[in-house]
Amino acid sequence: MKLAIHGGEPARRKPLPPNYPGAVMMGEEEAGAAGGVLLSKSPFRYYGINHPHTVRHFESRMASDLNMPFVLGTTSCTASLITAMKAVGIGWGDKVAVPAVTFQATAGAVLCCGAVPVYVDVDNSLNMDPDQLEKILDEEVRAIIPVHLLGSPCNMDGIMHVSQKFGIPVIEDVAQSCGARYENKYCGTIGNIGVFSFQLNKLITSGEGGAVVTRDKYLFERVVRYHDQGLFRETERYGMNIDDNETAFAGQNYRMSELTGAVLVEQWKKLGHINSITKAARDRMVLDLGEECDNITFRFSHDRDGELGAYLGIVMPTVKEADFMVEALKAENISAYIQYAGKPVYMNPQLFHMRTAERANSPYDYPFKHPIVPCAELSMPVASGLLPRTVFVSVSPLLTEQDTLEMTRGISKVYKYLIA
Ligand SMILES: *Cc1c(COP(=O)(O)O)cnc(C)c1O
Repeated sequence: MKLAIHGGEPARRKPLPPNYPGAVMMGEEEAGAAGGVLLSKSPFRYYGINHPHTVRHFESRMASDLNMPFVLGTTSCTASLITAMKAVGIGWGDKVAVPAVTFQATAGAVLCCGAVPVYVDVDNSLNMDPDQLEKILDEEVRAIIPVHLLGSPCNMDGIMHVSQKFGIPVIEDVAQSCGARYENKYCGTIGNIGVFSFQLNKLITSGEGGAVVTRDKYLFERVVRYHDQGLFRETERYGMNIDDNETAFAGQNYRMSELTGAVLVEQWKKLGHINSITKAARDRMVLDLGEECDNITFRFSHDRDGELGAYLGIVMPTVKEADFMVEALKAENISAYIQYAGKPVYMNPQLFHMRTAERANSPYDYPFKHPIVPCAELSMPVASGLLPRTVFVSVSPLLTEQDTLEMTRGISKVYKYLIA
């Protein structure tokens, strides 16, 4: 069959729906909830005229669904990362382990805390490799941030083993994997703290927004204080007996607004549905592609059942074939992409040039006992070898059965052309 990129008939007539799972499911529910906050004239979370307590409802709902005692809404996942790191005490003179493949927020948040990111190569799931993690550790690394990339859980057994062996806390970055599980535990509930994003490009969304989850009462107090000017306002809600004169410290303002809370209460109700329909569509496509395409290789998963369905990764033998596949699939009206242009996160200019906003005493200027390896000298063979060969196809919650059949047809057409 002639490929569309060569002038043939495309596998689909129309482009696929945009890949914003939460946003495409938005409707009257979110509009009504947000409107209700405005009509109540109380858009601030801690007090108001006729207070709707939407943020509190959202936190309680998320906490009970994740089976966690403490959840805090914030303004973003970046704010949540910074808050979580400050809760464990990260600052000037510390190093924090981050994966070589992630969005720049993970490493950027470390620098904004005054610490320096040290990069860890990934395993064949494209997530932080626990063996490589152990290799880069020294006594100056004081937190580990594994990132569950594009719906797929990290090898958390391996990472928690290293964490416990060396006594270093784990902050799970769940921005891209809300609802994913590892061995029947929700991502974000396995390490010491989990952080979530509700920005537009994530599973569910309020445009901007984030959350911090933990089981640890001591860390939670510090999370709340850092996110709210050093205050802890809801002692009675948590039954906490704490004394500002003993534990308060200077903080930020990363408070979630009631408008955001209202939207997220409704989006959270849709998360299970979004994840179950995308997973069914993904599973169907994986099954059909496996039958039609000899030796097709999907992105490795540490928990196939707990992985989300929204992102399907196909590993091609070479970068050239992967690049061709992306272009050829676009011509078939199937959106496909290479995540982060196939590059490790430290290739982004702000990280690569090791630049921060400070006039003096940049985090990089600290006289580390074990000096920081300049980004230009880093070598991450798995990240640089595997990421640019992995073609991701978006699986939208709006796909019809016809859509998934056409996607399978288009992918197998291009695959067979390349791998004859
Ligand atoms: C999007 C993203 C973030 C940042 O989330 P914001 O809510 O936009 O601050 C952090 N980490 C990862 C892995 C992300 O994908």
